[in-house]
Amino acid sequence: MTRRVAVVGGGISGLTAAFRLMKSHGADALEIVLLEASGRLGGVIQTDASQGVVLEGGPDSFLRRKPEAIQLSEELGLGDELMGTNPKVRGSYIFHRGHFSDIPLGVQAGIPTRLDTLWGTELLSMGEKLRLWGDHVLPRQPIASDIALGQLLRYRLGDGYVDRIAAPMLSGIYAGDIDKLSTAVTAPQLIAYQRRGRSLIQEAQKQAAAAPPPGNGTPPSIFASLERGVGSLIAALAAAIEGRVEVRLHSPVGRVDRGIGGYHIALEGGDLVEATDVVVAVPAYQAARLLAFLEGSAREQLSQIPYADLAVIGAVYQPGAFNRSLDKTGFLVPQGEGVDMTAGTWVRSKWHYRDDVSKVPIRAFYGRAGNRTLLEQSDEAMLARFRQEMGYIMGVTDAPDYARVFRIPQGMPQYLVGHRERAAGIRAEASRWPGLALIGSYFDGVGVPDCIRQANQAVEAMVASWSKPAHAPQ
Ligand SMILES: Cc1cc2nc3c(=O)[nH]c(=O)nc-3n(C[C@H](O)[C@H](O)[C@H](O)COP(=O)(O)OP(=O)(O)OC[C@H]3O[C@@H](n4cnc5c(N)ncnc54)[C@H](O)[C@@H]3O)c2cc1C
Repeated sequence: MTRRVAVVGGGISGLTAAFRLMKSHGADALEIVLLEASGRLGGVIQTDASQGVVLEGGPDSFLRRKPEAIQLSEELGLGDELMGTNPKVRGSYIFHRGHFSDIPLGVQAGIPTRLDTLWGTELLSMGEKLRLWGDHVLPRQPIASDIALGQLLRYRLGDGYVDRIAAPMLSGIYAGDIDKLSTAVTAPQLIAYQRRGRSLIQEAQKQAAAAPPPGNGTPPSIFASLERGVGSLIAALAAAIEGRVEVRLHSPVGRVDRGIGGYHIALEGGDLVEATDVVVAVPAYQAARLLAFLEGSAREQLSQIPYADLAVIGAVYQPGAFNRSLDKTGFLVPQGEGVDMTAGTWVRSKWHYRDDVSKVPIRAFYGRAGNRTLLEQSDEAMLARFRQEMGYIMGVTDAPDYARVFRIPQGMPQYLVGHRERAAGIRAEASRWPGLALIGSYFDGVGVPDCIRQANQAVEAMVASWSKPAHAPQ
């Protein structure tokens, strides 16, 4: 029997699944169709190269210690284009009370390991600095299986430290609310610290002391990217599957049903696609809507994973627009500083892209969990706000030569307290249905490498199941 696999969603998760399926079998033995709602592939990954510089609308990098994105890039022939961050520039600033402050040395994964450097920081008042000593004397926080990151950190380190240093560093990745994020998923080492000893600072210090000593040279970059932007990974995947996978853009799926011999996939336009197997690689709220045959509790768990609306503004300036040196990778903005921008990246300082170095690209981030009005604004209003804030934060009064708003509605899943159990419940229900795989950034890891890993594993399991006797859902 020729198997026909439908992949729903053409972000990095769905594209990787389609690519792996294609590689797993000769083209004759397997038909693969990829159904993407929008008019382009890549999902939140989008690189604008129209101005001769790399402007990322979504991710700009992947963590090196999670090798899947690097491996996939190499496999697709992009090995020569992989690069680390600019070795001459390290770290970012925190914008507080109208100016930039250094992140105190020794803050690792949001936890201070050197109290001497905190002593001099302008980010904390004297009372807030003294409050850090509470971490040494307060009893342990009892944790059953999970706790909100904010609850743990505020108790041990105090509100000032959390709001101005830990939250921008830790919850920024998720555009999340530190008082709701799951520690077990987003910073599991902190739960281990709290179980080993009561002081987070002392445990983080032990961890830092146990790390191998830095060599003489520049430490290797924690992040990697591609010389022409992360969009080149999407372009390479699209090229690799061309002609072997039927890619249907503008094909929003409205419903997936079980049928004899597999699945009926109804497109919103009315077309029906039949498949023996289906990989659902869409956001959780979409999966909940499409998969009406899943048990109610699993659909509820899917729809309980909230998402934050985000926007990224990419802008290109003349070098003369800046009257300060862009000597770090950019800046983070804690909440309560009177601006909507949550962070900025000084692209030219962070990366050495293969692009036009006479221009200065900047990225600005907008959107936090719980802010539902961000995307109600027009592009013009958002750009006007951006220019005003660039004036206040960076003293830039010139208009950029080019600026573009990347709108990312429901762009970032929120891993709230109890997420691990929620994800396990969804997985358990999905596994009851032969030929069904659910993947995406809402399971266990929002990063590009996490999405690739999940797609690799899901396809491996799907292909392995084909050689086993068929089983019906219980
Ligand atoms: C601003 C931003 C910055 C980020 N920065 C980084 C970073 O630097 N490093 C990093 O590792 N990660 C980063 N991430 C996270 C990472 O980019 C994402 O988690 C990952 O790209 C998600 O991929 P995905 O394929 O699971 O989902 P998506 O990219 O959301 O793709 C899902 C696809 O499904 C389609 N779809 C939805 N519904 C349907 C339907 N009914 N029928 C058919 N198709 C449908 C959508 O149109 C979309 O193309 C960032 C994310 C954002 C938003």
